[in-house]
Amino acid sequence: MKNTAEIQVIQGDITQCETDCIVNAANTSLLGGGGVDGAIHRAGGPEILEECIKIRERQGGCAVGEAVITTAGRLRAKYVIHTVGPVWNNGRNQEEEKLRNCYIHSLELAQKHGITSIAFPNISTGIYRFPKEQAARIAIDAVTNELRNQETITQVQFVCYDEENYKLYKEILGDQENG
Ligand code: ADP
Repeated sequence: MKNTAEIQVIQGDITQCETDCIVNAANTSLLGGGGVDGAIHRAGGPEILEECIKIRERQGGCAVGEAVITTAGRLRAKYVIHTVGPVWNNGRNQEEEKLRNCYIHSLELAQKHGITSIAFPNISTGIYRFPKEQAARIAIDAVTNELRNQETITQVQFVCYDEENYKLYKEILGDQENG
């Protein structure tokens, strides 16, 4: 059966999303940081960090392009998937492939947990300085392709915090629909 998942673009704060799961742009330590990571830990409360610490004890953090899952604490979502985007280094460090892996591995993990709806932030486009348009194209392409491989997820939201990303996602997805 072909997956008929709906892909939506919204502008706003991912901590307010009502999807089963929200994705965090974490760092390899899993101990929290600035940007969306800080916002998720603040809004979700200490339970999220407690589970992250347990994961660290088991496997020593999370590698770039990989993903781990925890509770969402006080958030409306049930789960947080923490994935680690690459720091942009002028494309010299396989950043594109690593960013693609963040989306693919997050969706694989979501599927394993029976998650049907998931919200992604614009991974790596903040503190990690990945060029926004390139990152948006990779995110949309990775998600669209991965959804073809599975039937569990019915809703994916790209949650853009800033106007520039919101416009880019709208434009790229609009072009795809018309092309
Ligand atoms: P990274 O280190 O992966 O670049 P950042 O958190 O700095 O992570 O930024 C990733 C993206 O998340 C940026 O586009 C930033 O604008 C966005 N962002 C920051 N806070 C929030 C939030 N509360 N909800 C959704 N997106 C957010």
